[in-house]
Amino acid sequence: MFDTHELGRRPGALQRISRTVEAPADLGIDGVIGVPQGSPVELTLRLESVMEGVLVTGTARASAEGECVRCLEPLRQDVAADFQEMFSYPDTDDRGHRTAAADDDAEDDEDITPLEDGMFDLEPVLRDAVVLALPMQPVCREDCAGLCAECGANLNENPDHHHDAVDIRWAALQGLADSLGTGEKDNMSGAEAGVDEKQEK
Ligand SMILES: [Zn+2]
Ligand SMILES: [Zn+2]
Repeated sequence: MFDTHELGRRPGALQRISRTVEAPADLGIDGVIGVPQGSPVELTLRLESVMEGVLVTGTARASAEGECVRCLEPLRQDVAADFQEMFSYPDTDDRGHRTAAADDDAEDDEDITPLEDGMFDLEPVLRDAVVLALPMQPVCREDCAGLCAECGANLNENPDHHHDAVDIRWAALQGLADSLGTGEKDNMSGAEAGVDEKQEK
């Protein structure tokens, strides 16, 4: 919870706050990547007093942990999430937002969150911002080679890993390609010859 009493209610008043807080539970994308509960989250906030309330603009920095979607190795990734939220004074909210019909609530809640006794709760805002800033498909590195589809070996650790046994479906496709005699196949054999020359050195 953050206090806005120091800021005051004079429109235009500004206050900057830097604070490190402990990450709340479930800060991230469930089962994919997230900021571990209790780990530090650095918050840089700018509070601006406006007519209707307090406009909060800020950045959260933290370290997220997850698992690479390709090789399944644990990974750690810094995350910086920007957010902005308007916290309104309940007593100046004369447009009926708080008493709006149930189906209007979801829409209004996205932009207008009430101040409670001059205090605001940043946690829901922080959660939304961090989830948006995190990758849905985290990878340990951009060129992660992942795992062998046949045996699950880590291809980053075994770049030369391959299986000699030809899959029967693949053999059928190759037979088809041979009978068609496509130009693409010629290119491929040329490339393969080049690789073989290098390896023989
Ligand atoms: Zn990976
Ligand atoms: Zn394999």
